[in-house]
Amino acid sequence: MAAIKTSLPRRQFDVVVVGAGGAGMRCSLQLAEAGLSVAVLSKVFPTRSHTVAAQGGVSAALGNMSEDHWYWHMYDTVKGSDWLGDQDAIEFMCREAPHAVYELEHFGMPFDRNPDGTIYQRPFGGHTANHGEKPVQRACAAADRTGHAMLHTLYQRNVAARTNFFVEWMALDLLRNEEGDVLGVTALEMETGEIYVLEAKRTVLATGGAGRIWAASTNAFINTGDGLGMAARAGIPLQDMEFWQFHPTGVAGAGVLITEGVRGEGGILLNKDGERFMERYAPNLKDLAPRDFVSRSMDQEIKEGRGCGPDGSYVVLKLDHLGAETINKRLPSIREIAIKFANVDPIKDPIPVVPTIHYQMGGIPTNYYGQVTTLDAEGNTQIVKNLYAVGECAATNVHGANRLGTNSLLDLIVFGRAAGNHIVESRPDNEHAHQDIPEWSIEQSMDRVNRLESRTSGQRSQEVAEKIRQTMQAHCGVFRTLDLLKKGEELIEGLVPEVDEIYFQDKSKIFNTARVEALEVANMIEVARATTKSAANRTESRGAHALNDYPERDDENWLKHSVWFSEGSTLRYKPVQMQPISAKSIAPQPRTF
Ligand SMILES: Cc1cc2nc3c(=O)[nH]c(=O)nc-3n(C[C@H](O)[C@H](O)[C@H](O)COP(=O)(O)OP(=O)(O)OC[C@H]3O[C@@H](n4cnc5c(N)ncnc54)[C@H](O)[C@@H]3O)c2cc1C
Repeated sequence: MAAIKTSLPRRQFDVVVVGAGGAGMRCSLQLAEAGLSVAVLSKVFPTRSHTVAAQGGVSAALGNMSEDHWYWHMYDTVKGSDWLGDQDAIEFMCREAPHAVYELEHFGMPFDRNPDGTIYQRPFGGHTANHGEKPVQRACAAADRTGHAMLHTLYQRNVAARTNFFVEWMALDLLRNEEGDVLGVTALEMETGEIYVLEAKRTVLATGGAGRIWAASTNAFINTGDGLGMAARAGIPLQDMEFWQFHPTGVAGAGVLITEGVRGEGGILLNKDGERFMERYAPNLKDLAPRDFVSRSMDQEIKEGRGCGPDGSYVVLKLDHLGAETINKRLPSIREIAIKFANVDPIKDPIPVVPTIHYQMGGIPTNYYGQVTTLDAEGNTQIVKNLYAVGECAATNVHGANRLGTNSLLDLIVFGRAAGNHIVESRPDNEHAHQDIPEWSIEQSMDRVNRLESRTSGQRSQEVAEKIRQTMQAHCGVFRTLDLLKKGEELIEGLVPEVDEIYFQDKSKIFNTARVEALEVANMIEVARATTKSAANRTESRGAHALNDYPERDDENWLKHSVWFSEGSTLRYKPVQMQPISAKSIAPQPRTF
């Protein structure tokens, strides 16, 4: 269909970055400052990306308030990951952390300060001194609006560096040649409804998380896993998708997040008897044990009839003992959220909370330069040429089976920067021309859009999306059983034909959100397929993946990454990197707190 070539407008860049969250913008900054031509696409205005909602902090062993060391941070991260994290990437991240945070400080990020002028740091779940001895103050914070401060800082730096922002543009598909090299993306300009071919010598996926495939979620509505869908459709695998984090403290009934920083500042969880139950489950770290651990303990309390409220369906987070001054100074947004969404003022009353889906540990597999990888026929890791992934959509494998709070904002800036540097070093601006994009690759993407566009009856996108969300909620929760997961997998696969029948009535071009939503559901289903398939096949409990019928971690059989391919929903596995770059390897141990 030669007509397509002439009909689609084209633009050329050295690099196209899909996503303007913390990861995308830390990467683009590195590229733009090195003089490359960079386009950053975002479905929303950059500073509305989900990073803006991050509250608690960004981790780095600065040791401003209590003794700390990057190797302690590494130990906590490996242990937090339940040994599924790759130790080379974890070493890289924890060593780079202080540098990456000071860099933000020098960019002008308005961190809270200690009286001596250094960056304020608060304790956070699973972060400890001296290998689990006691909680450490490692989370660098700007009140309870750390992500807001970070995102605005990065946006302003990008504007100064002349990054080209394509605001309210939605990337649709990766464009590849016969060898599988990535040559750019197709993208929808929402304002006009036009589709463009954006040619790029390097493409970076930074599309964030996909928590919106669950019914109750702390995530923004735009978090539909678009980058994962794009990768899956292009034959690129998704890794460790069974591992999703439930944050212990979402506001009951609303899903809005109450940061772990509240417990970092001294808040405690109580059951209906007023008992601080975490003392029983984690005698050492108590309320500041890692999230998988606290979420399961809460679930247990509720299941055993010690929940609060008329149905005993939640526990409460008490912080009035911190005093009005601390709450207003350190946790002002939390107070606002509690008043608005739970109708309680935490200065006086505790906040009703339940575990709520929050973060995906898995994603598009990469090495610690952000280069996307796949497996060849022999099971060897191979690099996908010209493609990078950073941030929550990537499985750089630092979080393994469970992420520690504040390690995500860190992951964004460390690996956003590292990917940027790696691209700059390969000097795409010195390569002469853009490679020709084969017509079939563009046609595949356009066929998908045209089918959707021409359908006049079928399924409504939000009804199908709701079925995905309800299935994930019912079959892929805090506690799982193999039967429940197998059934979930079956139900999700059963929805694939429905996704293929989605239509929308209003075909108008200008700002047609029905079109955008329909395209998003095609991505959501890939994420849900990967998740249920990977989960229904891992017969052990590790980190956030907890099976009632297989309660133990099984290192002998399962110390390996799940690698899922969309075609035929097939699973393969690859080893965990237990060898750090130069530090001492941290051998698996039982995980107690
Ligand atoms: C409420 C909340 C609080 C959190 N608090 C903390 C915290 O205190 N500390 C911490 O470390 N972590 C925290 N996290 C986790 C952390 O904030 C996220 O993991 C992180 O911000 C994700 O950043 P990102 O850059 O990968 O993606 P995002 O910030 O989600 O940005 C994704 C970008 O991709 C764009 N995009 C998506 N699809 C497309 C498409 N098809 N075309 C074009 N653009 C697209 C979006 O428009 C957006 O610009 C929190 C998360 C939540 C939800």
